[in-house]
Amino acid sequence: MTYRYVGETQMFRTNFNTKTLPLWRKYPIGSQGLHVMNQWRVGVLLCLLGCAHAPERPAPTQSTRASAHYTVTISDNFGGAKVRVCLEGATVRALVPIGDSAGHELHGAWIQGDTLDISRGRIRLPQSLHASCVDYETRFGTPMLRANDSAAIIVSQAQWLWRPDPFPRELDTSIRFVLPADQQVSLPWPHSDAVYFPDDSAFFAGTFGVFGSFDRQAFSAAGTSIDVARLGARPSDEHIRRWLSRAVQATASAGDRFPRKHLHFIIAPQQDQEMAVVFGMVRRGGGSSVLLLSSPDATVEQLEADWVAVHELSHLWLPPLYSKDRWISEGVATYLQEVLRARCGFQTSERAWTRLQAGFERGRRSGTGRRLASESRNMNRTGAYHRVYWAGAAFALEADVRLRKSSKGEMTLLRAISEAQHIWGAQAVPVGAAVLLRALQEASGAGFIEELGAKYAASSDFPSIPYVDSPEYQQVRAQITSRAERACGINAESSR
Ligand SMILES: [Zn+2]
Repeated sequence: MTYRYVGETQMFRTNFNTKTLPLWRKYPIGSQGLHVMNQWRVGVLLCLLGCAHAPERPAPTQSTRASAHYTVTISDNFGGAKVRVCLEGATVRALVPIGDSAGHELHGAWIQGDTLDISRGRIRLPQSLHASCVDYETRFGTPMLRANDSAAIIVSQAQWLWRPDPFPRELDTSIRFVLPADQQVSLPWPHSDAVYFPDDSAFFAGTFGVFGSFDRQAFSAAGTSIDVARLGARPSDEHIRRWLSRAVQATASAGDRFPRKHLHFIIAPQQDQEMAVVFGMVRRGGGSSVLLLSSPDATVEQLEADWVAVHELSHLWLPPLYSKDRWISEGVATYLQEVLRARCGFQTSERAWTRLQAGFERGRRSGTGRRLASESRNMNRTGAYHRVYWAGAAFALEADVRLRKSSKGEMTLLRAISEAQHIWGAQAVPVGAAVLLRALQEASGAGFIEELGAKYAASSDFPSIPYVDSPEYQQVRAQITSRAERACGINAESSR
């Protein structure tokens, strides 16, 4: 059995005693994994589509808006999709994929049976259409994750969703799925049964979808409604609820709420002797989705103690950034994964500081000598993850310490992020670091954040970071990781 990953990863295990995973790595799965996969079907009947409690989209108030109604038929072996899109109320000259690489998946396109030109993944229409239906067919040549003999597949919507071009200013979208018997779908979009109503960002930023036989559950934590699709038999529903509820609550404790009202998780098994959670990745197209690969042998205590879920969720406090600026988002998430887990009692304060110090040392020893912005832009090619993540975490620590010092403890990095977050909200496509740094500077009232960011981005040396171990900063370190138990309180309720 083989898993294959495609797409930009938000997180690799770059921390302690773990492996840095190359992009597109294939994971061989042993016979135990096979055994787990064969149990997937057991969970299917437990919950049909109606269990999920994503919000219902309100009826459109204007009949003059453009509309695009998709019917997506998934093939029996999950090898691809046949799509019919019926467009109305907008002038459309082509249908285009979300990314260039997705264009290779296009197999053919037709209008009323006539073959259409599909050069470079674009479906060119014979004349500008105002109202018509177009058929096209895609193949899932490179699914994000697939167990070869399994009953489910994780695939980006980029592999089957082509958008109208030019894209209408206002578009009502519905997507209805036709699936093989006893199969279901899970996506992070508002839906009613098997009809989904994604917002426009679903046409511009990737996300995860699951098709096939899998278990699902819905609950809430920290005021956020959570849908989970679980491939494999473990962790149990109860353990997933406990693990993810605590991770969501810990992440929410950086502010006074979690930065999203709805969350979608996909949990898939990945056998590993050392790590409870082997891999994590967040996507934002049309809604927030987090993919986590967890070891079926991990106990719930090990899952709770692991940092990956808190890291991925922490990304949602910030907007997605361009690749040259990702040292900031990865750095802040890396810093928060340690600080929030100490504040919420998942690890001791001492362990958090030991891990931060060791991470900085690892970052200092690695990399290619480029300036940090360049290192960040190239890291998927060079593998300089330690350097990028930990230099970014050093920036987060320095900003946090300096904010606390200059405000006598009134202002912190967590508070600045929480108060600035409304600027970008649920932004799904990348923005420049300037947007983020300026918002943090204004929210904190401190004058140094933008300058500090520019200094880090331009530096080819790993930053000097006395805050992590100098006796002078012992008191502020204790403040940073002091317990915040009330903010970390659990309020998880099952919705069924
Ligand atoms: Zn990350």
